[in-house]
Amino acid sequence: MGVEFSILSGIVGVIIGSFLNVVIYRVPQGKSIVFPGSHCAACGHNLRPWELVPVLSFLILKGRCTQCQEKISWRYPLIEVLNGCLYFYAAWLNKSGSFLQLGINFYFLSVLLVLAAIDWDTYSLPDVFTLPLLGVGIMAGFFLPQGPSGWESLATALGVGGVFWMITRIYPEGMGLGDIKLIAGLGAFLGFPEALIAIFIASFTGSIGGLLILSFKKRSYRDPIPFGPYLVLGAWIVFFWGQDILSFYNSLF
Ligand SMILES: [Zn+2]
Repeated sequence: MGVEFSILSGIVGVIIGSFLNVVIYRVPQGKSIVFPGSHCAACGHNLRPWELVPVLSFLILKGRCTQCQEKISWRYPLIEVLNGCLYFYAAWLNKSGSFLQLGINFYFLSVLLVLAAIDWDTYSLPDVFTLPLLGVGIMAGFFLPQGPSGWESLATALGVGGVFWMITRIYPEGMGLGDIKLIAGLGAFLGFPEALIAIFIASFTGSIGGLLILSFKKRSYRDPIPFGPYLVLGAWIVFFWGQDILSFYNSLF
């Protein structure tokens, strides 16, 4: 789609990213994502409308609460900007011109962002996100022209989900059931062999990331390493560049 439409999509992505921050923060605590309105996590100060403008208010406030001066995490604007970039690029690449397809793609990218952040924080991938991802992925396969066909979606979800479920039966420390549900959802959305490439990228970047985190002592070696953020990274890379990766791979033989 055109550059103006893509920029507009990016701005929508930043605004939705602001809502995703609320989801990421509140859903693991079992709190409502609607009430109460956004407030400072430290002092409870209710944010006024101008303090809610994504990214800009963070910059103007220099990352501090107006009431208690407590630092606001840089992760809030980061997630807003990241979601904006994802929407911009997804709109730019959407050659089908289908708004339904684009909406589903936005959903896919954002729900993965939410899952990555929640897994990073809490070492869990809630069913409330992974199961709809799987369902929507299979439905999109059957009803939308882009991406894998419905049967391919279903077969890939069952195939990769099943294989990794069996691996956890043998080696339970490696992965949780949440990871398996996420892998099945990625299988449904990406199809075969794209889902396998995403899992391969996840394992590769996960090993490097794990070593980096240990060497910077961000976590101790006894802490579990969340696999979800790396699965999400792999899925994004394959979503945007999967065809390029496959044609590069085929050109080698
Ligand atoms: Zn405050």
